[in-house]
Amino acid sequence: MAGSKKAAKKKATDKAAKKSGKKVETKKSAAKPGVKSAQKVESKAAKTSKTAKPEKAAKPSKTAKPPKLKATKPTLAPALTAEETAAALAPVPTTTLAATEWVTQPAQALAPTPGLRLAELDPEATPGWEGTREEAEARTLALGEEMSQLQERLFAEGRTGGTRSVLLVLQGLDTSGKGGIVRHVLGMVDPQGVSLRSFGVPTEEERSHHYLWRIRNSLPAAGRIGVFDRSHYEDVLVVKVEQLADEEEIERRYEEINAFEAELIEAGTTIVKVALVISPDEQYERLRERLVRPDKHWKFSLGDLHTRERWPAYAQAYETVFERTSTEAAPWHVVPANRKWFSRLAVSELLVQALRDLDLGWPVADFDVAAALEALDASASLSLD
Ligand code: ADP
Repeated sequence: MAGSKKAAKKKATDKAAKKSGKKVETKKSAAKPGVKSAQKVESKAAKTSKTAKPEKAAKPSKTAKPPKLKATKPTLAPALTAEETAAALAPVPTTTLAATEWVTQPAQALAPTPGLRLAELDPEATPGWEGTREEAEARTLALGEEMSQLQERLFAEGRTGGTRSVLLVLQGLDTSGKGGIVRHVLGMVDPQGVSLRSFGVPTEEERSHHYLWRIRNSLPAAGRIGVFDRSHYEDVLVVKVEQLADEEEIERRYEEINAFEAELIEAGTTIVKVALVISPDEQYERLRERLVRPDKHWKFSLGDLHTRERWPAYAQAYETVFERTSTEAAPWHVVPANRKWFSRLAVSELLVQALRDLDLGWPVADFDVAAALEALDASASLSLD
């Protein structure tokens, strides 16, 4: 959303520049990389394109000499002031928080307590959050803007040799809202920077490999926010409940998963693990909606009823997952998800915090900026004929 607004604004600015052939008064001090983008806009404006009408349009006739393009130096973007430079390079402002909203840090409020029993967790609850629904929705939007800015920096870092990435692992039973998180939370950032993978029943090829094979093949590239809609945890959840592997093998997997995640973290990936928890009653309502509405039938599968019947076994399998794989480096977050506005807020908070913790700046140019600027200026009167 923020991205498309920005794009629309830029388009309008570029259009205006083309029309007038004049210097664009872009505010260069904003959260943009400044120098580079300002130059881009400027150079676009400065060049007279085939479609742009110069102010005193002398129509090129066959006899008349085409007018020489004037050097456009006087209209070039001035160097940023020290203040503007500092603003362009400043950290992304942290979304403000009213004291009455989160009374406990989300990561802490959502941490699974030792021996957690899912049956005892209230899926209607909003642990740590004491604001209203309206405040939550407003905050989610504001966090989206912060996330979008942080994600652009992460992306820039990835494009300039950085190796860091963020991986959001989303788990939850059918209708728990995984898709809604993808749409509403990740939908707030530039899709270029997000890589989404969903994991369903393994294909024949996937089954012929180690269970982590398809996961390794789906890891986010440097600079990306990866999202797993279901994940390697299915290999200790559905696989356990449906006894698709023997107990010893499943037992081995918890440690294997911990080691795998430790390896990812070592390689620069921050892992944010979220389990969305709804109540059986809420699932009943959501499944029912899928059945009574013809436009939702595509979301329903008979397998959902089979899974629903195994609720207690899944609850137990999840409890074991939290117990065995909630590590210091990659802790689980158990998010009550009956209220979609809360789960979306909670996941936004966790993701934004993970991005803030990366302390992201803008990559320093690995070329001589002054020399490049000089070379560009020298070509300011470049003619197309
Ligand atoms: P969704 O229901 O999330 O929209 P799909 O219907 O494509 O997505 O696939 C989800 C199903 O795939 C779930 O029932 C899930 O348990 C199953 N699944 C995912 N991973 C595995 C796995 N490793 N082994 C067996 N089944 C799996």
